[in-house]
Amino acid sequence: MSSPSAAPPASGGPPLQGFFGVFRYSRRALELVWSTNRALTIALGMLTLVAGVLPAGIAWVGAQIVDAVVSAMGQGGGTTRVIEWVLLEGVLVAGLAAVQRGLGLCQSLLRAQLGQRVNVMILEKALTLELSHFEDSEFYDKLTRARREASVRPLSLVMRSFGLAQNAVSLASYAVLLVQFSPWALAALLVAGLPSFIAEAKFSGDAFRLFRWRSPETRMQMYLETVLAREDHAKEVKLFGLGARLLDRYRSIFDRLYAADRALAVRRDAWGFGLGLIGTVALYGAYAWIAVSTVQGLITLGQMTMYFALFRQGQSAVSAGLSAIGGMYEDNLYLSTLYEYLETEVPQPAGSLRRGPDPADGIRFERVGFTYPGATEPALEDISLHLRPGTSLALVGENGSGKTTLIKLLTRLYEPGTGRITLDGLDLREWDAAALRARIGVIFQDFARYQLLVGENVGAGDERDFEDESRWREAAAKGQAAEFIERLPAGYRTQLGKWFKDGRELSGGQWQKIALSRAFMRNQADVLVLDEPTSSMDARAEAEVFEHFRRLASDRITILISHRFSTVRMADHIVVLDRGRIVEQGSHEQLMQQGGTYASLFTLQARGYR
Ligand code: ADP
Repeated sequence: MSSPSAAPPASGGPPLQGFFGVFRYSRRALELVWSTNRALTIALGMLTLVAGVLPAGIAWVGAQIVDAVVSAMGQGGGTTRVIEWVLLEGVLVAGLAAVQRGLGLCQSLLRAQLGQRVNVMILEKALTLELSHFEDSEFYDKLTRARREASVRPLSLVMRSFGLAQNAVSLASYAVLLVQFSPWALAALLVAGLPSFIAEAKFSGDAFRLFRWRSPETRMQMYLETVLAREDHAKEVKLFGLGARLLDRYRSIFDRLYAADRALAVRRDAWGFGLGLIGTVALYGAYAWIAVSTVQGLITLGQMTMYFALFRQGQSAVSAGLSAIGGMYEDNLYLSTLYEYLETEVPQPAGSLRRGPDPADGIRFERVGFTYPGATEPALEDISLHLRPGTSLALVGENGSGKTTLIKLLTRLYEPGTGRITLDGLDLREWDAAALRARIGVIFQDFARYQLLVGENVGAGDERDFEDESRWREAAAKGQAAEFIERLPAGYRTQLGKWFKDGRELSGGQWQKIALSRAFMRNQADVLVLDEPTSSMDARAEAEVFEHFRRLASDRITILISHRFSTVRMADHIVVLDRGRIVEQGSHEQLMQQGGTYASLFTLQARGYR
């Protein structure tokens, strides 16, 4: 859905141009609503039209009633005519009520459908984003803004456009009647609404700027809400007594935001009242004029009541129409954040190859370097490695030495800044993303704990078999999770997590077994990576798991990150990282003989066990 006639961005330029430029999303909002549900959109349009014409009809019938009464009194005659007119007005009023109900119904049905549609659009876009987007706070702001506000705005924009059309139709029909009294009355009606409209537009812009400017603070507030009110933080918040302090922060953010809100609201209302007075003056000026004209016998009593009604309703139609324009302006501003988000450029993975030239080559890192966006120091520098199928590699190094980053590059969550990584002799960038994903299975130390069924938590390892219970069982057995899962009340169908009724919580070690089982779901993958998922298990269990992996993985590549040297020593090849560089590599025996960092760390840990 693209808008070929999109105007240049509203920022900059003279204010009026900016003001109209910002209506560029109206058409897209209408397209969105139209494509969401055509029948409802058409019904909405028709009802709007009818609702626009009926009030003028009612006012006109009102005049006929008064005149019929006056003439009946004058002639001392029958009342049938009067009754007929009254009946007609009653029917019209009932019709208007029905139309308004219908409008409300269409609106609420469309609102539900459209809200869902926009949320799905937002989430679908999220699926195409890169990891770096989620780690970028500015981008995260955009996402939050889009999620908070933008889902209700398209309908609001369309409703206001329709509302505007309805008021325009009403006004046109009033105009037809009013012009017979005096064209000046019509002009006064239109001009009187203008000042409050200008104020409205200005303050909508201010409110939006406020909303945008403070979204980092709003985000902090949302975060604090999460910390204070969610089960995964509750333990620490209680025991460390952080609650009161964090709540204070939450309050003080509100106080700051509220002060700005109040200032804006007060200004908005003060100006609105002042400028609204102009309208009131115009209204009563016109009343006086109409009343005097009646006394002078220029118009009948019935016409007088009609003009009164027309003027009053006309004025509210003008101000409703103008404030609809102000609201449309505001909706457009908010929609701009939605489209800004939806149009975020996502670099398309260029690769399309599903197989490399040399399947026996395994993985190569060739002088790979990488710096996180915004970081000053490289996280990895000059990494060269070659892993043939059938080898197992252990990565060793202090926290922050770059082990996880290396895995993130290998799995193409990030691209190397310099150098290249190949699998089967083919640069990772040239691999088809899905083919590459199928080849590599990774469990990170911060693996996801899905609040779904236990079995689904295992099945998550291979999306195609997400719901396949027999595969769950097989993988859980290998991951040493089968035993405790079978003791759970509903076995593999036990709900996990506290968000849902009867959700069970698992211990850290149990979760890790689930994560390992997830890795075993990937029986097609020939590169398996375990990034410290075994740290909560005891040393023996960890060694067993790794042994298991190696045995299963005779022609695979296994990569293990661990701080336990008793496990690390089992790997064929060990790489020691320090501040992003490889400082030592070789087999356990070789490294021990070298007597370097590895040897001293190993001896240190071994002494602890003796
Ligand atoms: P390890 O796994 O060895 O503990 P990492 O690879 O996670 O270390 O981190 C290496 C370095 O990169 C650290 O200095 C860390 O602060 C930095 N780093 C890690 N993740 C990110 C990130 N998402 N954004 C910016 N810097 C990061």
